[in-house]
Amino acid sequence: MRPTEHVRNAALLLLGLGLLTLACLYAQAGIWPMAFATSTGSWICAEAASHLRHVARERRQLAADLERLARPQTDPQALADEIALSWADLEESCCPASWCSRGLEHDPDCRAPNHPKETRP
Ligand SMILES: [Zn+2]
Repeated sequence: MRPTEHVRNAALLLLGLGLLTLACLYAQAGIWPMAFATSTGSWICAEAASHLRHVARERRQLAADLERLARPQTDPQALADEIALSWADLEESCCPASWCSRGLEHDPDCRAPNHPKETRP
């Protein structure tokens, strides 16, 4: 719901409650035509507020559907292949830091034979 719709919905609910209060007062006073008219107005306000919420829900659903249709579709097999290749790269790397930095950095306890910072004898 947009902020203006929240305000409109709250105003409708307040108006409906006010009319319902008037209907009760008219009913207590025995003025039945006015009680019927104000209670009908209260019911119309409640229906209008319900309609606003329904329209906002439909608009949100339509926006979600359009966004889903606009997304590029991925091929599940290509995605599975890419995941398998990534796992193979991870298994071939000497340490997690090397895999994350594409071989530029290594963990301090990395025992790779081609470790660039290796200074052990
Ligand atoms: Zn390493």
